[in-house]
Amino acid sequence: MKILAATSNPGKISEIRRILGAGGITVVTPGEMGIEIDVEENGDTFEDNAVAKAVAYLRASGMPSLADDSGLCVEALGGRPGVRSARFAGQGASDRENYELLLRLMEGVSDRRAAFVCTAALALEDGRIVTATGRCEGLILEAPRGASGFGYDPVFLEPASGKTFAELAEDEKNAISHRGRALVALMATLEEMGLLPGKDPASCA
Ligand code: IMP
Repeated sequence: MKILAATSNPGKISEIRRILGAGGITVVTPGEMGIEIDVEENGDTFEDNAVAKAVAYLRASGMPSLADDSGLCVEALGGRPGVRSARFAGQGASDRENYELLLRLMEGVSDRRAAFVCTAALALEDGRIVTATGRCEGLILEAPRGASGFGYDPVFLEPASGKTFAELAEDEKNAISHRGRALVALMATLEEMGLLPGKDPASCA
């Protein structure tokens, strides 16, 4: 199966390629397909935004298109930045500006609980849309740590490993992350639907 990753975020593309590649899915990017579209993310939920992006890229390319909408939901901030994670510090804000604003808002706050949430949506040529959601619970640090990953990774502590997402290797992050969990669940649904190689929905094997 060959799908278009409906995103131009290099951090997301790398993770999506790695995770879906392990399931035998070839992932192409909008750049490789010569597609340049901008989809407004004005939905109230991760699912609304993921579906809107997946459908827009399917229409532009004619290929099955996979979008992910994700963000960081912080307990003490009532779930913010949530669907607004990418533009928390303003339209066009950098990853660093976003997490620095978060750290300022969290100064002196003792409840540091947060969760990354990701909804993945795959729009198929026949009009079907498959979605799956993954979560990863963690804590917001008081200062950034680590150099890999993207977005809020340097300030998100994954308690079991004692490391931030920016201190984990990509495969370690993918094994436990919201995106990893959403994509693995999505692939399980595709297998059940008989859309992945070597699987037959009618077989009892
Ligand atoms: P969107 O899904 O394109 O709306 O962007 C989601 C935003 O949430 C990203 O720009 C990051 O700021 C943040 N985000 C989503 N997933 C991750 C992650 O795995 N690590 C760090 N930040 C993330």
